[in-house]
Amino acid sequence: MDIIKKQRSWIEIDLDALYYNLDQITQIASKETIMAVIKADAYGHGAIKIAQSLESYGIDHFAVASLDEAIELRKNHIQGMILILGYTSPTSAKLLNKYQLTQTLIDFEYAKQLNQMGYPIQCHIKIDSGMHRLGEDCLDIDHIIAFYHLSNLQITGIFSHLCVADSSLKEDITFTKLQFQHFNHLIETLKKRHYPIGQVHMQSSYGLLNYPQYHYDYVRLGIAMYGVASSLNAPYQCQINLHPVLSLYSHIIHIHSYHKGDLIGYGRTYHFSRDSKIAVIPLGYADGYPRHLSNHQNVLIHGIFAPIVGRICMDQLMIDITDIPHVKIGDKVTIIGKDHNHMIRVEEISEHAQTISNEILSRMGKRLPKFYKQKGYLKNAKV
Ligand SMILES: *Cc1c(COP(=O)(O)O)cnc(C)c1O
Repeated sequence: MDIIKKQRSWIEIDLDALYYNLDQITQIASKETIMAVIKADAYGHGAIKIAQSLESYGIDHFAVASLDEAIELRKNHIQGMILILGYTSPTSAKLLNKYQLTQTLIDFEYAKQLNQMGYPIQCHIKIDSGMHRLGEDCLDIDHIIAFYHLSNLQITGIFSHLCVADSSLKEDITFTKLQFQHFNHLIETLKKRHYPIGQVHMQSSYGLLNYPQYHYDYVRLGIAMYGVASSLNAPYQCQINLHPVLSLYSHIIHIHSYHKGDLIGYGRTYHFSRDSKIAVIPLGYADGYPRHLSNHQNVLIHGIFAPIVGRICMDQLMIDITDIPHVKIGDKVTIIGKDHNHMIRVEEISEHAQTISNEILSRMGKRLPKFYKQKGYLKNAKV
């Protein structure tokens, strides 16, 4: 597509892969139970387009991190339930009400303040079952029932979050099971006392795929939906085949040859041990490609790996193409994704950058245009 040739670097989102992943995951958790987590611009995949695609798949529960993310979805006609997982200032109560959003009650103090604003608002209560981030303590039942007496807040759900569900260490599995046990005990107690608890949820991607034996009203599905694992050493325990949804491409804008002994880039960190041919790509750390990968990661050209040499700059990086024949200006470069028989996975990049896939994806730069591919065709060009 010609429009692609005009870009510096670009993201391709494979909606067929998204649907494929959902087909796989809905064999474990039914479609009705999926609450799609599309915070941080759908982990860099583009929240609006992803939400629209999910709605057409039949998913109508969404989770985001902030009020602004939620309002953006409503302004783009997303109809389903939208849960804000994080803090929203109580002074924004009017907006929560106006846009029919569901707010997480991060603790009882917060709930009281939100209640005092005088707007009827749908809320889910956050419970701390062991992560110790947000929520009221799981074992503090007397405190938790107080939420149900706040007259402006309509409690439509209650949830907790696991913190080591991705780990296969014995002590972490024990801890996770304890989190389930404490949360389940709380839910049973509230039910016994006839509190209208609404929808109950606990698992995110790893919670579902490593502990599919637990069943709740929703699963908050993030990273797995995008077809990747958080890291190479945290595979999903459920045998599930997922396809990465996001690819990142660029193209060659400059080629030059240098002599053996020359040094390249900021800080002159890479030394040519032979006469070398170098290509420049217009992609840098401001596009979300970690500087930590300098001298430490390959890209793909013509299906062949080419190493990044020298420090990654804010807006460009250099690769060694000495061993790749017939490379010319304009040739496509695969940064994340498949090229012929090879593939560079975001898990591999995050490993080299000493982080997790979630961070790499959610920090994809704002200036990368996104193109959406469906049934083999690139659609709707730029979003
Ligand atoms: C981000 C988030 C999720 C999604 O987690 P994944 O591991 O990406 O599936 C679920 N629940 C909460 C509270 C979150 O913040």
